[in-house]
Amino acid sequence: MKYIIVTGGVMSGLGKGITIASIGRNLKNKGYKVTAVKIDPYINIDAGTMSPYQHGEVFVLKDGGEVDLDLGNYERFLDTELTREHNLTTGKIYQEVIAKERRGDYLGKTVQIIPHVTNEIKNRIRKVAARSGADICLVEIGGTVGDIESMPFLEAVRQIHREEPPENIMFIHVTLVMEDLQGEQKTKPSQHSVKELRALGLSPEVIVARSKSPLQEGAKEKIALFCDVPQELVISAYDADDIYEVPLLIEEQGLTDQLMKHLKLESPVENGGWKDMVARMKSTIEKVKLAIVGKYTNLEDSYLSILEAVKHGGIDNGCRVEVSMVESGTLEEDPAAVQQLEQFDGILIPGGFGGRGTEGKMLAIKFARENDIPFLGICLGMQLAVIEFARNVANLKKANSTEFDEDTPYPVIDILPEQTGVAEMGGTMRLGDYEALLKEGSVAAKLYGTNYIVERHRHRYEVNPEFVDKLESFGIVFSGKNKNRMEIAEITGKRFFFASQFHPEFRSRPGRPSPPFNGLIRAMCKYRKEREGQ
Ligand code: GLN
Repeated sequence: MKYIIVTGGVMSGLGKGITIASIGRNLKNKGYKVTAVKIDPYINIDAGTMSPYQHGEVFVLKDGGEVDLDLGNYERFLDTELTREHNLTTGKIYQEVIAKERRGDYLGKTVQIIPHVTNEIKNRIRKVAARSGADICLVEIGGTVGDIESMPFLEAVRQIHREEPPENIMFIHVTLVMEDLQGEQKTKPSQHSVKELRALGLSPEVIVARSKSPLQEGAKEKIALFCDVPQELVISAYDADDIYEVPLLIEEQGLTDQLMKHLKLESPVENGGWKDMVARMKSTIEKVKLAIVGKYTNLEDSYLSILEAVKHGGIDNGCRVEVSMVESGTLEEDPAAVQQLEQFDGILIPGGFGGRGTEGKMLAIKFARENDIPFLGICLGMQLAVIEFARNVANLKKANSTEFDEDTPYPVIDILPEQTGVAEMGGTMRLGDYEALLKEGSVAAKLYGTNYIVERHRHRYEVNPEFVDKLESFGIVFSGKNKNRMEIAEITGKRFFFASQFHPEFRSRPGRPSPPFNGLIRAMCKYRKEREGQ
């Protein structure tokens, strides 16, 4: 196993994850199987309990792991499926160490950060890497060098470095090069962060400098000199128009060959698929407009995977999708404002929790349904589409989800008793991969090109089976099912009206868009042409 360990300097939020994922992609393009481990030094066990306001979206893995959104970037760039073990947190490590201590596994010894916590970290990294069957394992240490939280992790990778032969491990430090008021690139903070790393016994072999514009020669020379790396191993990762271009701009500087030289790897193949995909993306001229009506609209990261999946659909359909975030609360305050959605070629309602903004989202869904604007609803988006349909088409006034109104006369969305064992609120979530069977001849079956699918879930509530016949008699079709769970709702005869209980965005990949997203964008392009022809 080859390990590439990546640390970060100066500050967080540099796009370290994208940089690392891009390095991994380039290695994959050379024919290697690459996997990634993300270390989050916070004490939470996982990201499931974290607000999207603070950390961006919670990414859901096939095994139901609720993890940091960087894992989503790794899945998309490396085109792989990861499991919850690929996200280590301080909480997970301590939980295990304390459980072992309670079991008496440490045989009466004093349990300490070194060696007990560090051993747990090392074992976990090695186990995940080995289990993945990959040739190369990228290990991203979250946070910034110097953070108290990350110390045990840095010490653990220092030990791995001691224990492995030199050609099996490499250290990359991703840092920030800022510009001063005159526009000169300043390397001092990067020098300091490398100094700090050295004090911990780690010497980076590659420095990747994030900056606004390409790194100037002078800055490169300084970093090479002060950080003690050859100049060709100072890589400039400057801002790209799109994150999918980052692998290409890194590759131009010859980093992959350098890594392979150090790791004593030869390139078995050369795969240009990524380059072609980026070229396709850049050559799109046609534009369509999509409105995402949600709650966390001021924070793009809270809908990251959705935005990526939209992009994938755009690339496949040869069009650039311009996304506008519409705050659902504003539609509630002023229902007439829903009229603004008229300008869009498509409307998407993402997942969400809690009642705030749901009435506004339903106004948007009603508008899409009545005006036949291509519509995609995801998770909560599907639940609200069903409620809206129940209220306004099937005449079940005041229909609702018991999540928002426990006393609703028509609980069309509810918690299924068999989900929790008890028919009450607060059941556990249904997480990760579940299969669904698709109805023959449905939009769903056509989109997927099969009648059996597996998609990822993260929800507690679902369509109440008691209302299914009644609702279907009014024209909505539950075209995807997992026994008595409704996985997909569609209205036939529309340009595109499709909603899923699962989150298709998590399995979408550049070059292999998720079928519901692809269907939405295709319908939007068609709709735009129809409108322009008018
Ligand atoms: N709040 C809803 C539920 O728990 C929807 C969840 C979601 O959209 N991810 O079922």
